[in-house]
Amino acid sequence: MLTTTVGLALCLSFLADAAVTPTGEVRQPRNIYELVYAFEHTFRNILEGEELKLYRTLSPAELKLDHPALYERISVDVKRWTDEWIEHVEHTVEPVPSGKLNTARKTAAQVDGVLKTYFESKNWPYRPLRVVFLPPRVFLDERDRGKITGGMYIPYYPDAFFATVDWPIPEQLVLVHEGLHFNASVRPFGARLVEGITETATHYLLLKYDLMDERQIARSGAYPDERKVVALIIDEIAKRAPMGRDEALELFLAAYVTGNQDGMTRVFGDEPWQEVLRLSHTREGWQTHKIKKALAIQGQAH
Ligand SMILES: [Zn+2]
Repeated sequence: MLTTTVGLALCLSFLADAAVTPTGEVRQPRNIYELVYAFEHTFRNILEGEELKLYRTLSPAELKLDHPALYERISVDVKRWTDEWIEHVEHTVEPVPSGKLNTARKTAAQVDGVLKTYFESKNWPYRPLRVVFLPPRVFLDERDRGKITGGMYIPYYPDAFFATVDWPIPEQLVLVHEGLHFNASVRPFGARLVEGITETATHYLLLKYDLMDERQIARSGAYPDERKVVALIIDEIAKRAPMGRDEALELFLAAYVTGNQDGMTRVFGDEPWQEVLRLSHTREGWQTHKIKKALAIQGQAH
């Protein structure tokens, strides 16, 4: 997800309105956030015992690896509800004008080409982007009007991600960010680390491939707190390895995209890096002083 307010995560950990009214009729969510809230609410009601515990404690990526049957069951429902909702949107909300849709699709093709080139240069597996463009109205969060989310990747709906057009956040930035989510293994990164490295790598790639300049990025960048901790870790990799800052960022990005932590473990040692990963799964753990302690980083706060 790409949003300018902190604290929203991929873990779908929201309380939700009931998606089914007392009379049994399905009330379709008014926007994409309500859709995600409704999943959470529903699974908390229909899963029981151990399954509910797994659903609540593991990320979708972890669930997929360790409990594939449960992941599949949840995913089938999420796909069905999401497809029904998209159909509902197509029938009830004014569609994106075709000219704007064509422009957005061209930008998506451009970003897809850039990401493909980059991933291939690193020998990382790449999935071509599949973007479903939805009308801006369904990206307005009625509970939090200050929130500007331009894209959404729903981990239990892995076939595509969602974006809108005509939005305060530049399309290129949204597409690179969600394209990285779409292609990353996630495990074993916690939600705040996921957003921090995704947004940091997004800025890096936008500059590297001349998709946006620094001034434009500075105006639109999201997840400042998450990025601050990621910057601290990148600086420390550069210092200890030692290597250039871009190289350090790419080492970190490789661990995120492939799930293989060998590079990070070589730099920091297994135990300290595991501690950082553990902290990244907690809301209160993702703070510079805690990460500095875990990695035994000396000196002033970043
Ligand atoms: Zn995101």
